[in-house]
Amino acid sequence: QAHAILHGVTRKFKKNGGTEVFHALGPIDLTLYKGEFFSVVGPSGCGKSTLLDTLSGLARPSDGTVQFENREVKGVPDGVGVVFQEDASFPWLNVRDNISFTLRMRGMDGAEIKRRVDYALAFMGLKDFASAFPAQLSGGMRQRVCIARTLVQQPRLILLDEPFGALDQQTRLLMGDELLRLWRETNATILLITHALDEAAMLSDRVGVMSSRPGLFIDIVETGWERD
Ligand code: ADP
Ligand code: ADP
Repeated sequence: QAHAILHGVTRKFKKNGGTEVFHALGPIDLTLYKGEFFSVVGPSGCGKSTLLDTLSGLARPSDGTVQFENREVKGVPDGVGVVFQEDASFPWLNVRDNISFTLRMRGMDGAEIKRRVDYALAFMGLKDFASAFPAQLSGGMRQRVCIARTLVQQPRLILLDEPFGALDQQTRLLMGDELLRLWRETNATILLITHALDEAAMLSDRVGVMSSRPGLFIDIVETGWERD
């Protein structure tokens, strides 16, 4: 069952004061199936982030269409959560307030916020760090906060752009397992961008391999993992 569909999607940027067009991506045709774990790998600069930005609605495609749950994507849709590589937590808010921030912005009922945040803290192993500030945490713990912040929004599609790129190898492997746990728990569709082919192969159902200039899928490989 199709969950998100990119059809003929490109991204073009004007260069040299508008005299030149830089073709960064596509045309891309891609269907993400409901509940699958899809990874995108490819060399630096091939358009992986650009792909994620168009899929999430953070950027509009130059050509083509993006659909999520049968609706055209214009701006980040409800039900889509994004996690970035760079630590996106607010340094002046403690862990609990970071995780609840978006829900509070939306004006959600306080009891419901508390219920969701407590659950996310426990699920991500952050219970003892609820009143800590991001600067007091390791890189891996800060990424847990970012994932928890996405989790409380109960996303049905989770997009992650090199979430573990800044972490050491051991933490990266651990976070890979955490991501599988999150995926099983939420039943969400996952799109993971990574430069680590081993990470993509270990975690996903399908791996899309991109080439550069302009970014295109040269192959989409099924890993054949049997899921329990
Ligand atoms: P990746 O994530 O695979 O490293 P990106 O999607 O970040 O690649 O970038 C793809 C190409 O598009 C790069 O050459 C980058 O410089 C270019 N690019 C990305 N965003 C912009 C932008 N806002 N303006 C101009 N060029 C951009
Ligand atoms: P090995 O047998 O080489 O030790 P494992 O089978 O333990 O490898 O798996 C290594 C990693 O691959 C796990 O930590 C997990 O991230 C991933 N993995 C293993 N089995 C599955 C599966 N059924 N579905 C998805 N990922 C899996």
